[in-house]
Amino acid sequence: LVAAAPSLASRRLTAGLTVAQADSEFDLTAVAAKRAARTEAGDVAISLTDVSKVYSIRGSGFRSTPFTAVDEVSFDIKRGTTMALVGESGSGKSTVAKMLLGLEKVTSGSIHIDGQNVSALNAKQLFALRGRMQPVFQDPYGSLDPLRNIANTIAEPLVTHHFGNRAERTARVRELLEQVSLPWSISSRYPGELSGGQRQRVAIARALALKPDIVVLDEAVSALDVLVQAQILQLLAELQSELSLTYLFITHDLAVVRVIADEVCVMNQGKIVEAGTTSSIFENPREQYTKNLLDAIPGANIRLGV
Ligand code: ADP
Ligand code: MG
Repeated sequence: LVAAAPSLASRRLTAGLTVAQADSEFDLTAVAAKRAARTEAGDVAISLTDVSKVYSIRGSGFRSTPFTAVDEVSFDIKRGTTMALVGESGSGKSTVAKMLLGLEKVTSGSIHIDGQNVSALNAKQLFALRGRMQPVFQDPYGSLDPLRNIANTIAEPLVTHHFGNRAERTARVRELLEQVSLPWSISSRYPGELSGGQRQRVAIARALALKPDIVVLDEAVSALDVLVQAQILQLLAELQSELSLTYLFITHDLAVVRVIADEVCVMNQGKIVEAGTTSSIFENPREQYTKNLLDAIPGANIRLGV
């Protein structure tokens, strides 16, 4: 358990680098160099400019007061890299994800994906974009239909987007189950008959069905125990390098950020208060808020190996 827990000693996971190796034999400088090259060379996949979201909160009687959930947030995510959006509960992370996914309208500001302004797209273009950008949410039990078996759950986006015929869809489901390391025998089961980790793999398989290039993971591993969490993080790292995926990885838990993210944005009360590469944030946090988040990691004040 201790070895699997993402801790302050952990380093960014890459494909082929197992969790157990992460702290020991692996040549970390090679990984770091590769990552730096990738981050520098990459073009921008997602770009948010001064994005705000104002909700109107119903007060007593007919009055309503505006509430700014997201306040002029800007960041870029380079293709094939992972940006972690961290912050305590209520800081506005999910609202950013919903706006990016087109599930909520922005109040002001703009979102560009591959250089295209999302709000300028017509319905058909938006539909196509939805296929290329997929969410994975925290509670796969809540987001998976309990009455739909696993094969149909994974095939659902394929049906919605008119992918192939029945046989082609079945072949794709088979391929996807393999990608997330689940046996084909699971395909006739129902979500309630799976473990939490298996359900999260199913949610990832479904997200990958349409071969997206952007995946938005909102607290996707937060509900899992540390061993399963480590396996899912490993799987995500492998899929990223195999399929050159771009991740927006949202979490309140800074411990997992170090093993998955290239860059980090720290959110507090709707604003980004600190941003930088993962190592710069962990080694040299400038904001007190970030320091508090780091101190909240279990075992943060245990000094390792010195
Ligand atoms: P996080 O994901 O960081 O926990 P959220 O983005 O879910 O935070 O929420 C940010 C803030 O916006 C919270 O204070 C929340 O209560 C508020 N909020 C979220 N959705 C709505 C909504 N539909 N209407 C009004 N307020 C909302
Ligand atoms: Mg949230």
